[in-house]
Amino acid sequence: MIDELAARLIGGRLITDPDVVDAYRRDHAHLVEPGVPLAVLLADTVEDVSAALTWAHQHGIPVVPRGSGTGLSGGATATDGCLILSTARMTTIREVSAEDQLAVVEAGVITADVDRAAREVGLMYAPDPSSFEISTIGGNLATNAGGLRCVKYGVTRDSVLGLEVVLADGRIIRTGRRTVKGVAGYDLTSLFVGSEGTLGIITSATLKLRPPPAAEPVTVVGSFTSIRAAAEAVAGIVRQGLGPSLLELIDQNTLRSINEWKNMGLDDNMAAMLIAQADGTDATDCGAALAAQFEAAGADFVAVSTDPEEAAQLLEIRRLALPAAERLGRCLVEDVGVPRSKLPEMFERLEQIAAHHQVRVMTVAHAGDGNLHPIFVFDPTGDGTVPDNIWAAADEVFRTALDLGGTLTGEHGVGVLKRRWLELELGPDVMEVHRSIKNALDPTGILNPGKGF
Ligand SMILES: Cc1cc2nc3c(=O)[nH]c(=O)nc-3n(C[C@H](O)[C@H](O)[C@H](O)COP(=O)(O)OP(=O)(O)OC[C@H]3O[C@@H](n4cnc5c(N)ncnc54)[C@H](O)[C@@H]3O)c2cc1C
Repeated sequence: MIDELAARLIGGRLITDPDVVDAYRRDHAHLVEPGVPLAVLLADTVEDVSAALTWAHQHGIPVVPRGSGTGLSGGATATDGCLILSTARMTTIREVSAEDQLAVVEAGVITADVDRAAREVGLMYAPDPSSFEISTIGGNLATNAGGLRCVKYGVTRDSVLGLEVVLADGRIIRTGRRTVKGVAGYDLTSLFVGSEGTLGIITSATLKLRPPPAAEPVTVVGSFTSIRAAAEAVAGIVRQGLGPSLLELIDQNTLRSINEWKNMGLDDNMAAMLIAQADGTDATDCGAALAAQFEAAGADFVAVSTDPEEAAQLLEIRRLALPAAERLGRCLVEDVGVPRSKLPEMFERLEQIAAHHQVRVMTVAHAGDGNLHPIFVFDPTGDGTVPDNIWAAADEVFRTALDLGGTLTGEHGVGVLKRRWLELELGPDVMEVHRSIKNALDPTGILNPGKGF
């Protein structure tokens, strides 16, 4: 069968050497045990992807789409006997149009490279997941990735105009448009975004660009003596209708672990840090209003800066959170979201859950979006499994988020790790609708089986 696939390909690199294949079995969700793939295809063109899916459809071979493998929910993890289909070598930026404020890029382009290309014509690509220097646009689209700037500029879905997608049977379709408006037909572009490789393989995208802020952003940092106070500040900022371009929270455990590692001179007694930015023409006023909200919520230290270097250092603290946790043990990286008015309650419940189950939790949050990343850190078990108390604590965190009107996943996706909870959020009827859509687009179920739903 592999020979038959090789004969059908025009380009691409087909790998069957088990040692090389091994490097493609996992993504960044290290807790998910991968299967053994049949082969890996590093596709170069949409025709390679189409040929591979036609072949897989005819033979009933499962296909696991893959970008950079930075996903945190196990979505790109290999299943037994699958073809791993990587779009990471499809790195052409086909067009950057200043006139129409859009870019057409292949799925393997690194996210930050899209932004750099946009900056060359005086525009920007807004979505900026913390992994933006290593993740691909295809992966971002498939997970509907968020980022630090999405509190103001929206998530990946808000920056997509159209897609080129290869369907499960190998047909190549184009969805969406290049125009600002357009309502012809169902919004298939939005359907494929966030579908975690279960409905089709994205090979290129037409992305929305926008003018960058006119000046350097104003950065506001605040230190709090309780995490509840920091969360109250966020809720206050939302209530006041202030429009920060970034609003991130880092808890004490995370701050201490970063400080221990990088010796950044952070105060170990700080219970939480908030970092906010304001950009645009009203940045100075907005920065002052953000600082006032920090103070009103009880911050014991607040500073406002327009120095880009200071801002970069503060954002570096935020970006170090995950690697700092990963130095300390194995990590279950979670991703719940709650309405922002419920953030104080969610943080409080999180502390209670950690204490009750005696687990170590480090939390960072895209607080302006109500999106928390509690990272459960634990010692490796002999057989590599997640200890029961970690799952029990995670289960309680998920149920708490749902009770507060929230969601199981704000941006990392369902993948493998969240599957058993999904019906709790969606309910049986919505699950059934999902199954109907899946059956319509992938009747033989070859696309990323065992992931998502
Ligand atoms: C340090 C670090 C920081 C992170 N920060 C953030 C963050 O701020 N925000 C955020 O949202 N995520 C974040 N992530 C998670 C991850 O980077 C994102 O989920 C990213 O979108 C995955 O991109 P990728 O190219 O690595 O995709 P992969 O991990 O390879 O794949 C992710 C999913 O997309 C599917 N897929 C990949 N390519 C395609 C394609 N071409 N067509 C169809 N399906 C495809 C895969 O099957 C899988 O289900 C972070 C991860 C790390 C390691």
